[in-house]
Amino acid sequence: MEKRDVIVMGAGLAGLSAARDLAAAGTDVLVLEARARPGGRVEQATTADGRLVQLGGEIVGTFHTAYRKLVGELGLTLGPTFVASSGETKWKLGSGETLGDDLPWMSKEERRNYERLEREFSRLAASVDPDDPWSHPDAQRLDSISVADWARSEGGSPAVILALELSAHALAVESIERTSLLADLRKESAAGADGFYSFEAWENERVLEGSATVALRMAEQLGGRIRYSSPVAAVHIASGRARVSLRTGEEFSADSVISALPVGPLRDVHITGVSVERLASLHRQRQAPAVKIAAVYASSFWEEAGMNGTSYSQTTLIGGTWAQSPGVLSGLLPPSSLGEYFATPPARREPDLTDDLAAILGTQAREHSAFFLRNWASDRWTQGYVTGWRPGDVMSVGPLHGTHEPPFYVCGSDQWVCGYMEGAVRTGRAAAAAVLRGGKDRRAAR
Ligand SMILES: Cc1cc2nc3c(=O)[nH]c(=O)nc-3n(C[C@H](O)[C@H](O)[C@H](O)COP(=O)(O)OP(=O)(O)OC[C@H]3O[C@@H](n4cnc5c(N)ncnc54)[C@H](O)[C@@H]3O)c2cc1C
Repeated sequence: MEKRDVIVMGAGLAGLSAARDLAAAGTDVLVLEARARPGGRVEQATTADGRLVQLGGEIVGTFHTAYRKLVGELGLTLGPTFVASSGETKWKLGSGETLGDDLPWMSKEERRNYERLEREFSRLAASVDPDDPWSHPDAQRLDSISVADWARSEGGSPAVILALELSAHALAVESIERTSLLADLRKESAAGADGFYSFEAWENERVLEGSATVALRMAEQLGGRIRYSSPVAAVHIASGRARVSLRTGEEFSADSVISALPVGPLRDVHITGVSVERLASLHRQRQAPAVKIAAVYASSFWEEAGMNGTSYSQTTLIGGTWAQSPGVLSGLLPPSSLGEYFATPPARREPDLTDDLAAILGTQAREHSAFFLRNWASDRWTQGYVTGWRPGDVMSVGPLHGTHEPPFYVCGSDQWVCGYMEGAVRTGRAAAAAVLRGGKDRRAAR
């Protein structure tokens, strides 16, 4: 049996960030990765004309400090996203189409109502500690109701409910009818409690060399410390040590093991020697499933029609689009579209989604030179997209969320407030620091 100081399960941004810090500290670390490539939910393809296309995680916000710091250390560059582009947003609603920023389809009165609710949401969000939402005096109640129920109870008009639902739909997270208010407050509290989800806070920067390059560069630095095509089947903790078995039966022994797996695939790993409570909390977490598309064009044709490429759509399987880079359009299919999407014969998916793009942005959307479809929802090693919190989930997962039970450590975007590349890097580096401190800080993963 091979012996190591630390085994890291998973070579996504979290596992790579953890392993990189451990290796830099002189630890004998080995990363076991199921796929034949690093990066997990960040992945990129190159088009025939040499453009990089992001098929997974893509954009970050200014408050994503752990990710931004790592990008600097890796010698990569952050630049602006679609948020900085001119042109207007397209709204394709059941009631008709509009072009314009800032909810142009709302009446003045509806807008006032929206702004009042947003102020109330900010006030509530500021009262939630993102690292410890459980300590909020009203945590149980805030977690038991959905964002939509809260908005209605505060006198939110149908237009306000629609605006919030369109935002969730475009982000490809669960409907606001099935999202915990406490989870959403926690998420926006982490972003500075400045209102509802905003592109300015969450989506104003991207790595110009390609988001997936962040993972590729770390993998390059780690070299032979990563074993690819090595899915972990079991972890046994006994006498303060970890034994990790691959599906092939090969075994490793280590002083510590770090799980950097998404919560879905982690449920498929047989774990013993970790407390029932810790495992129950981990296994209670879930993800929102999604499918991503990327369509490549000769130029950003949408700009000629005064659009910025951003859209919100109520009537198509695609919930929303945005401009990824010049001539490249991204889009997401939210959980509510996935039943119909997976029922569509595979050969019809690209043509149907091209019809969707044309319905949203005009007939030029048909003229793509490359079209990428990435079924993250059904990907065996992801089983989702970003962390999802239905009403009751925050309290059920409880304060053990993101905590370590040495020598069993956890990291990964699911172990932060709501997912995202920031969550992966932040928890990955925190897990490495906790291992190096000898597991003294069990809460460091958050
Ligand atoms: C379509 C899409 C768009 C997104 N857009 C954004 C965005 O714009 N901005 C943003 O910040 N975030 C975005 N995200 C989220 C972000 O990409 C992820 O939260 C983040 O990359 C997850 O990193 P991770 O290391 O925690 O997990 P992962 O990247 O999922 O890494 C986990 C690794 O574990 C491996 N694995 C699984 N099971 C096993 C096993 N049994 N044994 C060994 N290895 C295993 C997997 O293959 C994978 O490599 C997006 C995600 C998706 C899917």
